[in-house]
Amino acid sequence: MLAGQLSELTFATEKAIPITVAYGDGIGPEIMESTLRILSAAGARIQPNAIEIGEAVYKRGHTSGIEESSWDSLRTTKVFLKAPITTPQGGGFKSLNVTIRKSLGLYANVRPCVTLHPILPVGPQGMNLVIVRENEEDLYAGIEHRQTQDVYQCLKLVSEPGTRKIVRYAFEYARANGRKKVTCMTKDNIMKLTDGLFHRIFEEIGTEYPEIEKDHWIIDIGIARIATQPTQWDVIVTPNLYGDIMSDVAAEVAGSVGMAGSANIGTHCAMFEAIHGSAPMIAGKDIANPSGLLMSAVMMLVHIGQGDIAEKVHNAWLRTLEDGVRTIDIANASEKGTAVGTKQFTDEIIARLGQEPVSLKPARYPASETEKQKVAPEMVEPLRFDQVKETIGVDVFVQSRRSVDELAEALKAIQDPEFPLQIITNRGVKVWPNGMSETFCTDHWRCRFQGEAPITRKRIVSLLSRLDAIGIEFVKTEHLCTFDGKLGFSLGQGQ
Ligand code: NAD
Repeated sequence: MLAGQLSELTFATEKAIPITVAYGDGIGPEIMESTLRILSAAGARIQPNAIEIGEAVYKRGHTSGIEESSWDSLRTTKVFLKAPITTPQGGGFKSLNVTIRKSLGLYANVRPCVTLHPILPVGPQGMNLVIVRENEEDLYAGIEHRQTQDVYQCLKLVSEPGTRKIVRYAFEYARANGRKKVTCMTKDNIMKLTDGLFHRIFEEIGTEYPEIEKDHWIIDIGIARIATQPTQWDVIVTPNLYGDIMSDVAAEVAGSVGMAGSANIGTHCAMFEAIHGSAPMIAGKDIANPSGLLMSAVMMLVHIGQGDIAEKVHNAWLRTLEDGVRTIDIANASEKGTAVGTKQFTDEIIARLGQEPVSLKPARYPASETEKQKVAPEMVEPLRFDQVKETIGVDVFVQSRRSVDELAEALKAIQDPEFPLQIITNRGVKVWPNGMSETFCTDHWRCRFQGEAPITRKRIVSLLSRLDAIGIEFVKTEHLCTFDGKLGFSLGQGQ
């Protein structure tokens, strides 16, 4: 069926670039057909190769929603235009998006959020921001453990090479797209090491882009301001979880979930998709808005160096909206009666290929083949091992139902004088010495053994053996290290 749908379309063959497409589930096939028809009519120089992903593949027992053979197509074409899929209910199914992003190293998730007043008076007038979300690290590493009866943990991993890649991408994107400002959003007032690294690298790399204005916002007030003052932003770069939440807030503020496209960019591959899901309730009714996938396809065309076609498609789409053609989801009360279906909306865009909007600034993309390299330069950071790392102690996390004073007495009795017990915290707050009786404690204690001079791993192992011998159940250790003399760990609250 997929091959049949595709074989009805013809594409320009000269210098054609192979791409992988997936029709997805729900409204996916309708909006993919619409998008490919428009690309075909616009003269896109592409060779689409269809793969099957999503619900049917999940149901055939592939827990990540994609078959082994489909990876071959993705690895060969390195460009993926993807329609939304339905994730089956119930446990055991892995997110296809997370699998694809991580497996193909798609480190940057780029989401423009634009409103189109006066041609489409939805959302606030003048909103035109782009979120560049880190896509591979942070709490999405998926490393979680239940450590004690009371306490569960999710590891937030932020790497220096990963941060450099995403921050540089944001600045390169801003430069290539004539953007004036890049804002970094983190929570580094609390997470001084992980988010602190993100902020520090942002400031450092930002100096290489003197023509671009930069600022930093704490994430909570930053997202709140996107909601209340959505027009004041330009490009925003942020870690994974914040970016995920921010993208939905921004898309919601912009007015219609059916309108926005997104790109997932990696050093070797890229994936383009609408931000909305498979909308099963409206599937097969010829009422879905194909705009989100179409705008993703425009981003894809720019990525593969076909800015000329991207411009043609984008401007025909703007002109169609300007002429008052609406799908039902973006029609206001007075337009509902004249709203068109997916197929007619597609025909209207095709009929306007070559035209530009009159009241809005037309879209402009560089036609050059080198655009891809300009926006996504080779960003593999060399691995460095040039800092002097020394261990000066260890945090031992233990499960215990004893009182903190009893625990401290037991630990002091077996401590190593070179790195004695300094502090015990419970969920990060100091409870020994001189804890406060009001502090609520769980069964999960962080016991910090720290000295001044470097110690060997053998001494840590020996400390752990003594803990074991007196029946203290340690659940995890973290070494306390310095890098070129700088502390590589945070102080306990109250330390
Ligand atoms: P959804 O985005 O599919 O739908 C939310 C609302 O928006 C619905 O009212 C829907 O009718 C409407 N809508 C969405 N896209 C539209 C369009 N193009 N035109 C007109 N109206 C549109 O979100 P959901 O209902 O939470 O999820 C449905 C399914 O999609 C779930 O199985 C979910 O897991 C999946 N999903 C997939 C992706 C993806 O593949 N990238 C993303 C999100 C959700």
